Amino acid sequence: MPRVISLDEKPEAVDVSMEADLSHHGLPKLIGIIDLVRKGGRIVDFKTSSTTPNPEKVEHLHETQLSSYAVLYRDAVGKKESGLELHHLVKLKTPKLVVSSFPPMTESQKTRLFRIMESYQEGVERRDWIPSPSPMTCACCEYFNECRKWS
Ligand code: SF4
Repeated sequence: MPRVISLDEKPEAVDVSMEADLSHHGLPKLIGIIDLVRKGGRIVDFKTSSTTPNPEKVEHLHETQLSSYAVLYRDAVGKKESGLELHHLVKLKTPKLVVSSFPPMTESQKTRLFRIMESYQEGVERRDWIPSPSPMTCACCEYFNECRKWS
């Protein structure tokens, strides 16, 4: 497997826990752990997968997480990240590494993240629990029995 990060590259941070106070946006505190910040402020998240990530969907699927990391990084460091990367280790017969690179979070992505958080928060406050079945999430859900009794 070709090496993506050279051995002599010094990271800015590894497995670092960060918090951002978003009360001035009317939002709860954002907390997260960033896997790696590469030299120059490139935020990396490592993932494992049994299938090759779909290049058209990978950004959509992980945007909430990557935007959260960008918000955390900017709050902690006081500057914009230089980019965002997903490193998928794909566990096939012959394993491979797929790197997806994205530019820094845009203002509209930030707004989108804050609106998602706002909606979750409002839903929690008004106890807006509704079943939203999907084969993937229900397969490992701890609340299956409670969910079946919901009405
Ligand atoms: S079983 Fe769990 S994941 Fe599935 S709809 Fe109910 S709460 Fe959601």
